[in-house]
Amino acid sequence: MVLPKAGTSAAAPSGDDAIQMNFGLDQARALLCGSGGAVNMAAASVDRHVAAGAGAHTALVCIGRHEERRSVSYAELAEMSDRAAAMLRGLGTRPGDVVAVLLGRGLDLYVAALGAWKVGAVFCPLFTSFGPGPLRSRLELAGARVLIAAEGAYQRKVAAYRDALAGLEHVLVIPEGESCEDGLADFRALIAAAPPAGAPAVTAAADPAFLHFTSGTTGTPKGAVHGHGAVLSHLATGRQVFGLSPDDVYWCTAEPGWITSTAYGLVAPLVAGCTVVVDEAGFDPRRWYDILKDERVSVWYTTPTCIRMMMRFGAALARSYRTNSLRLAASVGEPLSADAAHWGERTLGVPFLDTWWQTETGAIAIANRPSGAKPGSMGLPLPGIEAAVVTRQGKGVAAAADGVGELALKADLPSLFTAYVGDPERTRAAFADGWYLTGDLVRRDEDGYFWFVGRADDMIKTAAQTVGPFELESALLEHPAVAEIGVVGRPDPLVREVPVAFVALNPGFEEGEALRAELLTFARQELGAAIAPRDIHFVETMPKTSTGKILRRELKARAASEPADESGVVPPCPGHFDDE
Ligand code: AMP
Repeated sequence: MVLPKAGTSAAAPSGDDAIQMNFGLDQARALLCGSGGAVNMAAASVDRHVAAGAGAHTALVCIGRHEERRSVSYAELAEMSDRAAAMLRGLGTRPGDVVAVLLGRGLDLYVAALGAWKVGAVFCPLFTSFGPGPLRSRLELAGARVLIAAEGAYQRKVAAYRDALAGLEHVLVIPEGESCEDGLADFRALIAAAPPAGAPAVTAAADPAFLHFTSGTTGTPKGAVHGHGAVLSHLATGRQVFGLSPDDVYWCTAEPGWITSTAYGLVAPLVAGCTVVVDEAGFDPRRWYDILKDERVSVWYTTPTCIRMMMRFGAALARSYRTNSLRLAASVGEPLSADAAHWGERTLGVPFLDTWWQTETGAIAIANRPSGAKPGSMGLPLPGIEAAVVTRQGKGVAAAADGVGELALKADLPSLFTAYVGDPERTRAAFADGWYLTGDLVRRDEDGYFWFVGRADDMIKTAAQTVGPFELESALLEHPAVAEIGVVGRPDPLVREVPVAFVALNPGFEEGEALRAELLTFARQELGAAIAPRDIHFVETMPKTSTGKILRRELKARAASEPADESGVVPPCPGHFDDE
């Protein structure tokens, strides 16, 4: 079928010299690819800067929980990741093996990712805020051969079922004390003992580099696999959206586990040669303003929920920290409302831009630019990206008739996921007629700007985190009191939605505060506080379709009619959760 001319944008912006709309994939390819198109994420992000004589430039500034500060140069990062690669190779890690990582933001995370890429292994970071249930299902699906974890998180959330993880051969930990417990290997000690030599594996653009899980409406989580070629998109979008260069001090607040942390907390700024700020602590407005100011951050990438949380602490505080270094701020994960964008601009004194992308796209696809931004919109497609508004028709797609439809992207982006791991059927279902179907409902205005309308499915967005109701429902069904359950998102002024559960009880159980508290605790322990339902409603019978499916739409309407949570409790910050 022929779609109307897609919303491809051509015009280069004016008004911000740093933005490089003309730097596209061809330029990225010329810089990063070797003979036969070979490209390796780690070599492109780190080693090539050292080879070009920029080894002394600061790659990372890691700020510890107690504000201890450590700078790491590109040369040091190259050497550490060489050692990590040698160590992984010594353990028998082969190209294509999955190296799962359960670490918070910090130097170890960077070394683990780069080391994995240097042996051609697949880096698979997991949310430290998740409980044992979601971690187990992801580790099983990933078929990880190596797990690198903070020792405490490993002991609390993985150790109990480690033996059931068939493919897992090595657990390397960052010890909590002087040394780790028997049976575990010390990640840092192994690296220190490894030789610093060895060329990075030669990888093709399509060879798998990272694996990120995202939630499905039904069934298991979906593990989206991305190839080494995604680094081309990261370099190009880093220039087009942020204008990144080695002069920038760049800070992305996302938590590992979320693809934003890998793509824009790690690869995009490093491949551009920036200095990357890595804050190990959780959200704290004063600390965040301090970092923006003291580290002389020039580009800041965060989430709308973070902005709303900072808004709560007032404009006066923000203004007192106003810096001269910041030149651009942007957000992702949920719509950036016009009022939040304006607040950001007024208080920080720089453009505050919305960007749109998702786990599957692997890189920013649609964004506002400093000149010509439309606050409240997602922005325009980046150069070379074709976007359309469609409806699904049989096995194909057609242009949406009434202006609102599903956002589709031409499936030729190097950063686009190559498959959902072990799930060819769901992979196939995501594509039609050469388009990738995003699951987001949007409308495009007369100027070509895209506006987010909602999800086409039942996915819940809480604090920029995508949560599948099925996973939450399955966890709570394990409790003997629960006969039936439906989880939906309740609108929330701060974090957009909070998951709430409607529960029908088994005979012999009585609804009441005691059981509600027990179920909430059960859910938090199993799922982790970041995604566990925030409230439980007991119902006599569950609303159902004629075919017996739970009518989530009706539950959503009921949830929406409740008063929002005014408890004043500040939830974990989006993409910036703390391990519990
Ligand atoms: P994830 O794959 O977890 O990063 O979630 C991706 C989803 O977050 C998208 O499909 C959208 O539903 C939502 N999302 C991301 N960025 C935006 C944005 N700028 N505006 C609206 N929704 C967004």
